[in-house]
Amino acid sequence: MGAIAVFCGSSGDVDVEYTAAARRLGCAIAERKLTLFYGGGASGMMGAVAEGCLASGGKVVGVIPEEVKDHELPYACAEIHWVRTIDERKETLINLADALIVLPGGLGTLDELFFVIARSRMGLHSKPCGILNTREYFQHLSHFLEHVISQGFAKRKHVSNLYIEEEPKDLVDALMQKMNATTGE
Ligand code: AMP
Repeated sequence: MGAIAVFCGSSGDVDVEYTAAARRLGCAIAERKLTLFYGGGASGMMGAVAEGCLASGGKVVGVIPEEVKDHELPYACAEIHWVRTIDERKETLINLADALIVLPGGLGTLDELFFVIARSRMGLHSKPCGILNTREYFQHLSHFLEHVISQGFAKRKHVSNLYIEEEPKDLVDALMQKMNATTGE
C-alpha cells in the first residue's frame, strides 16, 4: 500500500485523449491499491483522474486550499482535506505521497512541476516524480531540460528522479519499482 499525488490541469477545454489518459491513470492507481491524492477539483484532468480511480474501487483524497474555494469546485465523491494556501497544498501533496505524477496541464500545473523538481534538487524530498507524456505534451520541456543541463545550469543528477512515460500504467509501474527499491520490498 502506498500513495501517489497527481498534479494536473483544471481546464475542461482539451482534447479527449488527455482526459482519457487521466482516467486510465486513475484506474491504474486504484488497481495497484494505491491511494490517489490530488488537487480535489471536479473539472478537466482533475475530475477525470479522480473518476477513473473511484470507478476502479480506489481511494481518492482531494487537497483544497481555502484561498481558492470560491473558484475551484470540489469533486463531490472525493474525501476532502482542507489547507490554507496553494503553496501549502503543494507541500502537503508531496508530504502525503510516496511518489508524484504530473499530467498535462496549464500554468498552475507547470508551477507545480517545477516546485516538485526544484525541491528535489534542493534535497528537500527524494520522491520519484513521473511525467505523463500524453500526445508528447512534455516533449519541448524535456528538450529544454536537456538544454538547461548542457548549458551548465543544472546537473543530470538533479533530474535523475524524473520518469517520463506515454502510458499511465507504465508510469505507475516505473514509480512503484522505484518506491519498492527505496523501501527494500
Ligand atoms: P492549471 O494547470 O493552470 O489548470 O492549474 C491546475 C491547478 O494548479 C489549479 O488547481 C491551481 O489551483 C493549481 N496551482 C498551483 N500553483 C498555482 C499557481 N502558482 N498559480 C495558479 N494555480 C496554481
